[in-house]
Amino acid sequence: MTDGWFAVRAYGSGVHLISEPGHVNSYLVVGDERALLFDTGLGIGNIDDAVRGITDLPVVVVNSHHHFDHRGGNQHVAATEFLSHSSGVDLYGEIPSAELTDYVAAAKRMFETYSRFRELDKVKFFLTPDDLTMRPIPDLGAWSIPATPPTRVLDHGDVIDLGGRSLVALHTPGHVPDSLCLWEEDTGFLFCGDTLLTTTYWAHLPDSDVAVFAASLSALAELPVTKAFVGHNLVADVDRAFVRRVADAFAQLAAGQVVGETVDGPHGVPVRRTEGDGFAILSRM
Ligand SMILES: [Zn+2]
Repeated sequence: MTDGWFAVRAYGSGVHLISEPGHVNSYLVVGDERALLFDTGLGIGNIDDAVRGITDLPVVVVNSHHHFDHRGGNQHVAATEFLSHSSGVDLYGEIPSAELTDYVAAAKRMFETYSRFRELDKVKFFLTPDDLTMRPIPDLGAWSIPATPPTRVLDHGDVIDLGGRSLVALHTPGHVPDSLCLWEEDTGFLFCGDTLLTTTYWAHLPDSDVAVFAASLSALAELPVTKAFVGHNLVADVDRAFVRRVADAFAQLAAGQVVGETVDGPHGVPVRRTEGDGFAILSRM
């Protein structure tokens, strides 16, 4: 039972956030002839229904990277093409059920904490958005994420034409080697996946690389961004100044100019945590 799982926010200019609030953010960009779905979320609930509530046009899916929380819904989308960066083409296999069980347990703990936080927020602070409220985890007995190999690969600079508008694929490795962003020059919109976040950056993974991440963000900070759309959580869009702050923080971390503090990482392994203004970075010890 996943009715109401998604929250949709229209940004104008044919851009829609399709959020699984508190989890992951996917985006639909509607052109004259095709629509582009950037990421498909967890696969909890049917994101195709949310897409079809917005447009009847043919849909092309672009995955920002192979992690299951960004491509779990590929299984549900009737897309003409599934595109991802060429370096991730072999990484779209079936997700072991234990990983999903772990995710559900963590999400249930998060929901309990969020609910207390939200209650307090509505009394006093009013920081949480009313259109992106975290949903309770539904009964997920049937949740699975099968293999969904890309049908075509993208490389840096490839253009996706939607009719009347086009987006450019930017290879932005760092979180993982196959991370992609999409850039629309005409609007100044940047779609970021896990390359730009208003939360904790996972740059501590075995295939993460802080120096490479810093280089990717430095390039993004040079773009004349009007809005950058991020891959997770309740603050979904940021401005160019935010991109610059994140790029500078990663550059300092890569150069060894900041050390951060040692904390327990998401998988029980100690990591370094470096605080930023509106974000934090986890990196390896
Ligand atoms: Zn990721």
